[in-house]
Amino acid sequence: MKQVALGLTAMVTGLMLAMPVIAADYDLVINNGRVMDPETNYDAVSNVGIKDGRIAVITKDAIMGKESIDAKGLVVAPGFIDTHFHWTRPIGYKLALRDGVTTAMDLEAGVYGPRVDDWYKMHEGKSQVNYGTASGHEFARTKVMQNLPDEDLLDAPYSVVKGRASGTAWFEKVATLDEGNRMLALIDEGLRQGALGVASTVGYLPGATAREMFEVQRVGANYSRPTSVHLRYTPGTITTEPNGAQEILANAVALGAPAVINHFNNPGWQMVQELLVRLRARGHNVWGEIYPYAAGQTTINAAFVKPENWVETLGNQYEKTMQDPLTGEFYTLEKYKKVLTEAPATQIVLYKMSPDAIPDWCRLPGVVYASDAMMLPGGWDDEPKWDTPYEKIPNTHPRLAGTHGTFCALHASRIFR
Ligand SMILES: [Zn+2]
Repeated sequence: MKQVALGLTAMVTGLMLAMPVIAADYDLVINNGRVMDPETNYDAVSNVGIKDGRIAVITKDAIMGKESIDAKGLVVAPGFIDTHFHWTRPIGYKLALRDGVTTAMDLEAGVYGPRVDDWYKMHEGKSQVNYGTASGHEFARTKVMQNLPDEDLLDAPYSVVKGRASGTAWFEKVATLDEGNRMLALIDEGLRQGALGVASTVGYLPGATAREMFEVQRVGANYSRPTSVHLRYTPGTITTEPNGAQEILANAVALGAPAVINHFNNPGWQMVQELLVRLRARGHNVWGEIYPYAAGQTTINAAFVKPENWVETLGNQYEKTMQDPLTGEFYTLEKYKKVLTEAPATQIVLYKMSPDAIPDWCRLPGVVYASDAMMLPGGWDDEPKWDTPYEKIPNTHPRLAGTHGTFCALHASRIFR
């Protein structure tokens, strides 16, 4: 509950007023906000009283606190837990807090297994959000296939840029038995160091076989921890997307392991949702997450945006679907080829769904809302600091700081009724 209290504070930071203490029953009261609690479906303009770091009362009666916040016209909600947040650095966390997030974890890319300890030490006593991470399949693969030095391997903001700029073996090559076993040992090391689960970006790894994916999930299963996956064919079609989910879910059921299907807000989402609902009804610990936008964001060397897949198989045009988040300009085939050669880790925004589907995703029971927030397109070296003014932060995908606010707005507009 402490985290919830922190979240409530974070949601309305900037409105805190010092009040004279007159028989204050609570340490802090948040008055007049529209209090929404997804767990109990509570939704009413109310006052919240916090004592000893815990929510002590939610009431329509007037209450007094040593401090009070007037939240009139605002939504008061629990601090959100974002399970898919890649920009795990102070400025990224700052933007997450502005979106009501009080726990931000990268469970899709995670951390290079042998450096999980380092990653937790980097956060200890310094983080303004609750944090956690998973042991990364991609980084274990980058180490084994590309032999990237440990100093270039840590977590998503840093290692994705280094690893994805380092060549193609990390994603193209089928692993030998020895290479596969070394990868699994690196992932296992991360779990031994306290990673919350296994993170897999298998959709970026066409060289990863069905057996490799099964064995990666088995490492998580050995610790009863989830594997959280960017599916093999994502973004794909109404057939390939569910097929990607079926691979992970079949492995999870066979292994008796938890699994998370990442950002299934793609073609075939209805089918993925039905698989998840029915498997949960049968007692399996499997979940899916979504973000409320028609476009995603990734690096330009993602295997799925190659012309043979993106244009020829999926029928997209770069001119309409692939955007530079910094300038807002759309790509051409020529520009795609040029940037892919010169700067393969360059970030792109990718349009893949109709925005009409977004309210439908919000109506789905049992989905997890997660942002997939990425580090800024400029990369690592020129990253803004905690106190960089917002207007100096370059343009990027709005999901970084808008996912949870957007979901709140959609729910507040009573799309369910
Ligand atoms: Zn992803």
